[in-house]
Amino acid sequence: MKAIVVGAGVVGASVAYRLAQAGADVTIVEERRPGGGTSSVTYAWVNACEKLTSHAYFRLNFAGRQAHEAILAEFPGADWYHRPGVLQWQDAEAEAGGRDGTDPLSKLRQLVEWGYPAEVLSLDDVRKLEPDLAPEAIGNAPVIHYPQDGWLDPVPYAGALVGAAIERHGAQFMEGRAERLVLAGDRCEGIVLADGRALTADVVVNCAGRWLNEFIERPEHRIPLAPTLGIVAYTPPSGARLHSALRTPLVNMRPDGGGRFLLRSNELDRLLETDEGAVPAHPQAQELMRRAAKTIPALAKVQVEAVRIATRPIPKDSYSAVGPVPGLGNYYAVVTHSGVTLGAFLGEAVADELVNGRSREELAEFRPSRFFN
Ligand SMILES: Cc1cc2nc3c(=O)[nH]c(=O)nc-3n(C[C@H](O)[C@H](O)[C@H](O)COP(=O)(O)OP(=O)(O)OC[C@H]3O[C@@H](n4cnc5c(N)ncnc54)[C@H](O)[C@@H]3O)c2cc1C
Repeated sequence: MKAIVVGAGVVGASVAYRLAQAGADVTIVEERRPGGGTSSVTYAWVNACEKLTSHAYFRLNFAGRQAHEAILAEFPGADWYHRPGVLQWQDAEAEAGGRDGTDPLSKLRQLVEWGYPAEVLSLDDVRKLEPDLAPEAIGNAPVIHYPQDGWLDPVPYAGALVGAAIERHGAQFMEGRAERLVLAGDRCEGIVLADGRALTADVVVNCAGRWLNEFIERPEHRIPLAPTLGIVAYTPPSGARLHSALRTPLVNMRPDGGGRFLLRSNELDRLLETDEGAVPAHPQAQELMRRAAKTIPALAKVQVEAVRIATRPIPKDSYSAVGPVPGLGNYYAVVTHSGVTLGAFLGEAVADELVNGRSREELAEFRPSRFFN
């Protein structure tokens, strides 16, 4: 099978690697660089504990977490997956109004019932784990600890998988922008690149993230997206101590290598109107730094070093869309929020479906067909 994978973010790199490993003749088409899209501007928490809106979505994300653990065996020495644990004293669904805010531990009970490693820590235990955290930042809120959670470095991950697809399994990497699909009746036969090159294939797998629809000419083949903006601020190296990732009402923050911290907040994301002006003086970046210093007072004199803004690729109903698009043969789309969590699993699942002919039931509720009559 000849496959074209458009996009080499955390999702496309995973898909290309697994397709090539399964025996497909893979060409990866990437207009920037592996991991250079939204995958380079993300909190990258690999988790299922924020995915409680449906059991199927929880299971899908749990499979994502397991796949990230499993793939490490194929990459000895890989250091892209950090699992020091995550501390949370804010519930994303309660924040969004989707859960009864009067019972902050209802989430924990649900997670424990579904087999997710999670526990409540006392303030003393929190201080032993993270001595630089300000107790006032926590107040009386119950702190949930996910001892096995952590984050991925998506760009090294994408680079390693693209490299392995090429070196181990004969994939080709082509720098360029897919401009349109080549259609023959109701089938897709390949793509045309912006520089005029035409590539043919038995299947085109669209992993272009937030740009998914930009080279899909016919509206009836486009998956409706509801993208949102996110801003991430980075500190310079500092001596402040923080080992876990934090999910808190003020700020979400975690180590980002070399003593740097990565900061973000859903609340501040919602104030963004444009992806322009990603500089340290950006008001949301300044506010993130202020909130980080309230959380870890040792950061009081630290300034924002860098800022990035990205657009999340989110299907209209917020759930993943993975599979064929009705009325267009030989075309397969893979677009999702939480692509970092799901990337490794989606690679396996897409290869199973396209090369091994095995439909994956984890994806049954997440087909693009739900958007089309
Ligand atoms: C602030 C923020 C926080 C987040 N936090 C988390 C989190 O904690 N956990 C989590 O799991 N997810 C999180 N996400 C979401 C996650 O980062 C994304 O779902 C994921 O990175 C998407 O990966 P992708 O490979 O689909 O897209 P991308 O990384 O954008 O990759 C798409 C690639 O396609 C290429 N491309 C696009 N169009 C073309 C074309 N026409 N021709 C050739 N190449 C093309 C691009 O250059 C790009 O490299 C967060 C996102 C943001 C913005």
